Amino acid sequence: MPEITGRRFDKAVRETVPRSRYAASVDLAVLLDRIAADVVPELGNGAVADYIPALARVDPRRFGMAVASLDGTVAGVGDWQVPFSIQSVSKVFTLSLVLSLAGDEVWWRVGREPSGDPFNSLIQLENEGGIPRNPFINSGALVVTDELARFGDVTERLLAFLRTESGCSDIEVDAEVATSEAEHADRNRALAYFMASYGNMRHPVPDVLAQYVRQCSIAMSCADLARSALFLARHGVRNDGTRLLGSSAAKRVNAVMLTCGTYDAAGQFAYRVGLPGKSGVGGGIVAIVPGRCAVCVWSPALDARGNSVAGVAALDHFTTETGWSVF
Ligand code: GLN
Repeated sequence: MPEITGRRFDKAVRETVPRSRYAASVDLAVLLDRIAADVVPELGNGAVADYIPALARVDPRRFGMAVASLDGTVAGVGDWQVPFSIQSVSKVFTLSLVLSLAGDEVWWRVGREPSGDPFNSLIQLENEGGIPRNPFINSGALVVTDELARFGDVTERLLAFLRTESGCSDIEVDAEVATSEAEHADRNRALAYFMASYGNMRHPVPDVLAQYVRQCSIAMSCADLARSALFLARHGVRNDGTRLLGSSAAKRVNAVMLTCGTYDAAGQFAYRVGLPGKSGVGGGIVAIVPGRCAVCVWSPALDARGNSVAGVAALDHFTTETGWSVF
């Protein structure tokens, strides 16, 4: 076997690491144009969520992507300024808000392990005494919403945060989506009552459910979401320089996103993208490059696990081309 010398090792590293990893900066506009062109064959692959009828009316071939850099500048492509239903992407923000207000208390009521089951599954709750596996599946997010309701109206607090961070004062709940979701919320209702039977609901289930439905029905663009998530790339620091979270708490939110943010596809997402990410059934995904940027991609057609097909492909291209992954 030939001896491995330092020089050979250097050469091997140079040959296997993408060249742009060494670049001082990446021309994001050029990169995003290329990604948008590359994902065209993926557009429309999968199916839009139809268990919330209002979501089924969205054109499955839409695609937008935005990258917000630490200084707040945003580069985008395609439908990056078109508002869409954020759905479970809201769970990153409600978790962060509750951690900022109540510290670690919420972890008594919800775990931090991947579930390996669909986001709306009931199956683990009985075996695990009404404690959801993590805050990013529906049961866990209902607990977070319930905990956040101790501090006042959840949706108003969330909207205020998102409007300030994004700089877009028009962000609102989409009333049509909220009504549609409320009319088809039996599974979430069942999850909440089941947890209430174990004593893991502080407030009446109908109140928690109403807040949860409204938070999921907020409409935002890729640009708004990327800017609103920048505090997670800045180790907890908001766009105005104040802190939402300590750096340790921000690190932990990112860790839970990596392990649980895309449900029972979190392993596959880590494998392909290599970033903390949170998806929603509206077709949005937010991903964080700590110390560098926040990325949001939107394309409504979903895979069987509820993650945007073109969105995951675009993020895969993004980290492959730039080398900007946490690994
Ligand atoms: N509002 C949706 C639900 O409760 C959110 C699910 C999701 O985006 N994965 O089912």
